[in-house]
Amino acid sequence: MPEYYIWTIGCQMNKAESQRVADYLELLGYQATLVLQKADLVLLNTCVVRQSAEGKVIGTLGYLKGIKNSKPDLAILVTGCFVDSDVKQLEKSFPHVDLFFKPGDYVGLLNWAEKQDIGVPRDRTGLPSTKNVTVSALVPIIRGCNNFCSYCIVPYRRGRERSRPVDEIVCEVSELVRHGAREVTLLGQNVNSYGHDLPTQPDLSDLLTEINNINGLARMRFLTNHPKDMSQQLIQAIASLDKVCEHISLPLQAGDNDVLKAMRRGYTVEQYRQLVGSIRNYIPEVALSTDVIVGFPGESEEQFERTLAVLEEVRFDTVHVAVYSPRPGTIASREYEDNVPPELKKERLNRVETLQANIAGEISSRLIGKAVEVLVEGKKGGKWCGRTRSNKLVFFESGGDCLRRLVDVIITKTSPWALQGEIAIGASNLKESKR
Ligand code: SF4
Repeated sequence: MPEYYIWTIGCQMNKAESQRVADYLELLGYQATLVLQKADLVLLNTCVVRQSAEGKVIGTLGYLKGIKNSKPDLAILVTGCFVDSDVKQLEKSFPHVDLFFKPGDYVGLLNWAEKQDIGVPRDRTGLPSTKNVTVSALVPIIRGCNNFCSYCIVPYRRGRERSRPVDEIVCEVSELVRHGAREVTLLGQNVNSYGHDLPTQPDLSDLLTEINNINGLARMRFLTNHPKDMSQQLIQAIASLDKVCEHISLPLQAGDNDVLKAMRRGYTVEQYRQLVGSIRNYIPEVALSTDVIVGFPGESEEQFERTLAVLEEVRFDTVHVAVYSPRPGTIASREYEDNVPPELKKERLNRVETLQANIAGEISSRLIGKAVEVLVEGKKGGKWCGRTRSNKLVFFESGGDCLRRLVDVIITKTSPWALQGEIAIGASNLKESKR
């Protein structure tokens, strides 16, 4: 049986799409290998959101060229945000690649397979992602983005927003649950835009309500939200639907109004604050995570300190921080000079990380002695590990089989990044299907 190897760089959406490609490859008769050198086919799922990620993609393509030189039959397939509209140019630059296909273009993948004389299934649509199902599965619900934030390459590479129909998503989640998933994370560049392009215009709260009814599913999450589009109706739905976790990703990006305007984010710091207030009003125990970019063109010390001040004030559970890097083709790269020196960007990144480590450490320490519900995803270093509804990683010991179960764990030790604990009342506490 021929073997495939998938190399995924980037976001959760890429991970979900890699899983889907894996399902197609297995339908085509391939089996997975963890050893790249053994593979007959390598898929590189790429990210170019930052310069460093693009550099990694190009480096990996160079490495694969070396392997193909000694193994000419190796098929190299490339998808993800590296694949822009000028595929011809990519083919010229990387002639050792057999196929470039746009994210989600499974028809392109199957057409290529057909030409290679690989047996292609007749029904090419709606194949659910049901092989190798993990406890916590990723499900894309909307692809593309209509926003054009000034620094972001994603809308140019992934195109305009396209929502998947509610029925199709509900069917996929039901199948995933039937094959062992207990939690789903619904994905989109902006999940708050979900449904506006569908004939009946359902919104995200409608979709969450439908998925909440699926028996055997314990939890759901969704990301990423856009602060300008998150509705009160959605906040109320999160508060009222029992399977929706109290965990919301809400990218801030900057804590200064002029920087937000230059980023074309479409909200002010005051509006962001109001939104957080409203979320905490309806969902007092909510865990908030955010994204921040430091070193955006022209960002002054005062403007950066305003970002730090918002982080201090809101006290997020998690902050993902990145340094700005210009992406050719974006508005920011055309209109602004990348004038914050690299060492200053790095220093600002370190200051955000230090502040956030203290805040996250303090939030975690409040859980000492408390019981948290953990959905167990597997074992690491001899201990079971899983996540709380607020998305905190928890490790604990047990002689029983805890995989895929909801377990109450008393927290005994904390750090900013993970929690340690003990099973609350012993093995009888393991919940087969609480919800
Ligand atoms: S919302 Fe902005 S940052 Fe997010 S994918 Fe769309 S353009 Fe990029």
